[in-house]
Amino acid sequence: MIHELVCTTCEVASGAQGDFDAVRDWAFAHTDANPTHLRYFEMAARPWRLVPADGDRR
Ligand SMILES: [Zn+2]
Repeated sequence: MIHELVCTTCEVASGAQGDFDAVRDWAFAHTDANPTHLRYFEMAARPWRLVPADGDRR
């Protein structure tokens, strides 16, 4: 999973990362530096990697 948190007060984002702990730590540091910024949106994506196959896929 790829995670990103966006502060709803100033719209600064953590950047997309595979490690949720790093994203969460960014949010804690952001709130520590900006005590009125308390809410975030989480965006999560599950990346796919496809491998081309020969012939009919159905
Ligand atoms: Zn903020």
